[in-house]
Amino acid sequence: MSNLYLRLKKYKKVGIVGLGLTGISSYKFFKNHNIPIIVFDESPKSIENFSNQFGDEDLAKSINDLALCSHMLLSPGIPLYFPRKHAAVKLAFEHNIEITSDCEVLYECVKDRAKFIGITGTNGKSTTTSLIGHLLKESGKNCVIGGNIGIGALDLPLDCDIYVLELSSYQLDLLNNLRFNIAILLNVTPDHLDRHGSMIEYIKAKKKVFKNQTSEDFAIICVDDEITSYLYEEEKLETNNITIGISSDPAKEHMKNIICYDNKYFIDNYWNTTLNFNKNVYLQGKHNHINLACSYAACRAVGIEAEEIEKHIESFVGLPHRMQYVGNIKKISFYNDSKATNAEASKPALSSLENIYWLLGGIPKTGGIEGIQKLFTNVKKAYVFGNASIGFAITLKGKVPVKICNDMNSAFKEAYYDAVNDGNEANILLSPACSSLDQFKNFEERGEQFIKLYKNLSMVVSGGS
Ligand code: ADP
Repeated sequence: MSNLYLRLKKYKKVGIVGLGLTGISSYKFFKNHNIPIIVFDESPKSIENFSNQFGDEDLAKSINDLALCSHMLLSPGIPLYFPRKHAAVKLAFEHNIEITSDCEVLYECVKDRAKFIGITGTNGKSTTTSLIGHLLKESGKNCVIGGNIGIGALDLPLDCDIYVLELSSYQLDLLNNLRFNIAILLNVTPDHLDRHGSMIEYIKAKKKVFKNQTSEDFAIICVDDEITSYLYEEEKLETNNITIGISSDPAKEHMKNIICYDNKYFIDNYWNTTLNFNKNVYLQGKHNHINLACSYAACRAVGIEAEEIEKHIESFVGLPHRMQYVGNIKKISFYNDSKATNAEASKPALSSLENIYWLLGGIPKTGGIEGIQKLFTNVKKAYVFGNASIGFAITLKGKVPVKICNDMNSAFKEAYYDAVNDGNEANILLSPACSSLDQFKNFEERGEQFIKLYKNLSMVVSGGS
C-alpha cells in the first residue's frame, strides 16, 4: 500500500461536487485514506441524505469553500460547459484547481498493474459491460465491472487485474489521463443533447474513450451507424491504436479488421476465427449480437482464446429492464424494456416482436419517435403517457391507433383489455423511448412497477379461473 500512498499524495485536499452515487462513493474512498475532503451539493435533499449518513463536518456552506482544494472531483451530473459552466467549474478555473473524476482517481491508483476496458455508446453499454465481466470472470480473470452501470469506480477493489468500466458521455467529458487498453464504441445516435449542446459535442465526448491510447491498445468500434463508421475511419487514419471494426453487415466482411456475423456466428478476420454464438436466449436480436461481438473482441484482446469465450456465452443471463420477458397471460406475452430511454433504444424490441401493444412515454428526447416510424408496422396499438403523450400521439396519428393515458398503470390496463379482446397471440411491450423522471424515480422503478402490474394481473386472472 505504500505505492498507493505515493499515488494519493498529490490529492492534498479534494472537493467533491455532487452527492449522488459517485460523490458518496468518492467521499468514502478519500475519507478511508485520510485525505482532507470537502463536499458540496445544491440539492437540500442530497445534503440531508449526506449529513444523515456522515454528519456535517465535511459539508461546504457555499461553493467558495472549495477554493483551497488541490483537486475538484466532479460527479458526472455536473455540467462542464453546457448549457453553462457550473459554478464549481468556474471556481476550479479561477483557482487553478485540477478537475478530476472517480474513474481518473481509480486509474491513478492501479495503473501500474491493471488493464482498463472502457465501454461507451448511446445504447448497449450495460449489457456489453456485464457480458464482458461475465466472460472474463468465467475465463478465470481477476476482474470487476463498474462506472455508469451503478457501481462507483472508487467502490471497486484496488487489487484487480482488469477493470471493465461503463462510461456515459458525461464521464468521458471528465477524462484526462485515463488510458483504456481496450476501448469500445457501440453506436452514436442523438441523446443527451440537452447536456452536450450539439451532436458535434456529443460525438466529441464519445470519441474521448480513445484518448491516450497507444499502439498496443485496441479501439473496437461497431461501424453499423454512419457516425461510428466515420469515427472508425478516423481512428484508423489518425491514430496508431489497433482499430477493430464490428459489423452486422456481411457486405463488410472483406474489410480488414472487421468481425461479421450471420445471426449465428462471427467471421473474425483479425484473429482468424469463426465462432458460433446463437446459444443464448438472453442475447437475442441483432443489437445483442453486436454487443456480443464487441465483448468477444475485448476478451480476445486480453488474450483469451475463442474456444474459452464460446464456452461461457451460454451462461450469461442478461440484465433486467432490457427486453426482459416477464411472463404470459392468455396468449399475451409481457416484455419490460424500461431501459429504452430514447427512441433508438426502443428499436431492437420493436423490430424483434410482432403484434405489439406498445406502452410508451415519459420525458422525450430531441426528435421524439420520428426516427423510428418504419417500425410502427409491428405495432397494433400505442398507449402514450407522461410529458411526451401529446407529442407522441401526434407522431403516431394516422399510422397506429393511439390512446392517451394518464400514467403507465392506466396504459397497462387499456393495453391488456385491447389485447385480450383481440384474441390473437400478442405482446404487451413497455419500451418507453423516454426518460422516466416525470413520473418515476428512475427507469428501474418504472420497470419494477410494470412487473408488479403483471404479477397483480396474473394473480387476479389465475384466482378467477
Ligand atoms: P445502456 O447502458 O447504453 O443504456 P443497455 O445495455 O442497458 O444500454 O440497453 C438499453 C437499451 O438499448 C435496451 O432497451 C436495448 O434493447 C437497447 N440496446 C442494447 N444494445 C444495443 C445496441 N448494440 N444497439 C442499439 N440498441 C441496443
